[in-house]
Amino acid sequence: MRKYALLISLLIIISAINLNAQDDNEKQLLKQFHSITSEEMSGWLEKLCSPEFNGRLSGTPEFVASAEWVASKLKEWNIKPAGDNNSYFQWFKWPYTIINETGSLTLNLRLSDGSVIRKNYQYPNDFYPGMNSGSGEITAEVVFVGFGVTAPELNYDDYKGIDVKGKIVLMNRDVPHTDPRNPEYKKWVAYCYHQYKLENAVRHGAAGMLYVDGASANPNITYDPSIIVCGIGPQPLEDIFAGIKTTNKALIEKIRASFKPASFNTGKVMTIKANTTRVNEGRACNVIGYIEGTDPVLKNEVILIGGHLDAVGNAGRVVNGALDNGSGVVDIMGAAKALAQSEIKTKRSIAFIFIGGEEVGLIGSKVYTANPSFPVGKSVVFINLDMVGNGTGFYVSAGSSYKEYLKYFEQANAKYIHRPMRTAAPEAGEYYGRPRSDEVVFRTAGFRTMAMWTTEATKKVYYHLPGDDTDAVTIDIMEDVAKMIYLALTEMANDPEIKF
Ligand SMILES: [Zn+2]
Repeated sequence: MRKYALLISLLIIISAINLNAQDDNEKQLLKQFHSITSEEMSGWLEKLCSPEFNGRLSGTPEFVASAEWVASKLKEWNIKPAGDNNSYFQWFKWPYTIINETGSLTLNLRLSDGSVIRKNYQYPNDFYPGMNSGSGEITAEVVFVGFGVTAPELNYDDYKGIDVKGKIVLMNRDVPHTDPRNPEYKKWVAYCYHQYKLENAVRHGAAGMLYVDGASANPNITYDPSIIVCGIGPQPLEDIFAGIKTTNKALIEKIRASFKPASFNTGKVMTIKANTTRVNEGRACNVIGYIEGTDPVLKNEVILIGGHLDAVGNAGRVVNGALDNGSGVVDIMGAAKALAQSEIKTKRSIAFIFIGGEEVGLIGSKVYTANPSFPVGKSVVFINLDMVGNGTGFYVSAGSSYKEYLKYFEQANAKYIHRPMRTAAPEAGEYYGRPRSDEVVFRTAGFRTMAMWTTEATKKVYYHLPGDDTDAVTIDIMEDVAKMIYLALTEMANDPEIKF
């Protein structure tokens, strides 16, 4: 009997120790959890959106300054550098264009008596200066060229039988084909890119280009000094089609139904003025830091979390990119600081990548995946955050094969955060079958990937527009995103076995 009594009291003591250890663990976990505050995070967001960074356009000294600031925070939190030569930075050359003035867009209407009346359009609602436009002024007739595509192998040419030399071409985004699930669509992908469309216009001798893109900032377009470019909104488009018995929308639908171009001379004369300076010696970078794991073996496995740091710059009015993607950057910073200062040390390593060059063509993620700081084979997952700070709910996706990864986030939310959360395993970040996010670049390079965003937006989204400022985000959900990442990554990095 005494023997049993002894055994039982021993068991009680052991389980008490265990419970204590568990309590301590949870205490430590929650201590860091509560250290993540929206006050601190909004301070960081304000810094990212401050005039000194001027819209963080890749290539500019202001982008570099924002990268240096993020790196200084990583250093402050004792997060180790994982960029080039033991620095936080992975550099690449990136020329850029300064928009000296917003320029102008004017319709010149010739009346029957020969006089001309001019209608000037307003920046930024009616037109947006081409962010890699050549500098100068062009007055010429506007020629509608559909999608601006020349694809002989597809028996399709928007420029066939129409002379655009010295003229202004008017074209739309995307391509005639609209169904990415159709295998035929793949053949069209190369013609989707803004770069291609501009280069094709130049090949055909156009001197100006009007891009139907809702008049928004688009630095993801080729620079060619011989062509003056601007984006246009609904009003000038309506005026171009005035007196013509069709609309841009109707023509697009017609082309899409028939796969036959519908190009024509509009007879309208417009003037585009641009004042730009090209800077060839620009450079940009990724900022990379990591927390080294404590397990001698598992520390070689790295969980990567990243989001793009760059935004679309200043074309007269700054686009501070608070939601796109100051939100993702600040979410990661909040989690990074908490993870770095946590008393719970993780077995695996965790790396933070603040990506440059996203808005100019997913350049930073291509640079990283071509020359990764940690081997692909040892990278557990890359988690991308883009526009994660407007709404009341979460969306967490895991590329279709990695459903197991969702559980760390589901558990964190169920236990501590309690937000509406949707999870899925779709191929996120793809749009019409071509990469539209850093996540897809990583996946294409062989990384397992996930992505996070916020749902049920409660504020207006100013996508690539001057309104994307600190008041365009909901800071309380950003705090919760940072907390969820902190919790989920702590669990994931300490899980003895992660199922792939
Ligand atoms: Zn973005």
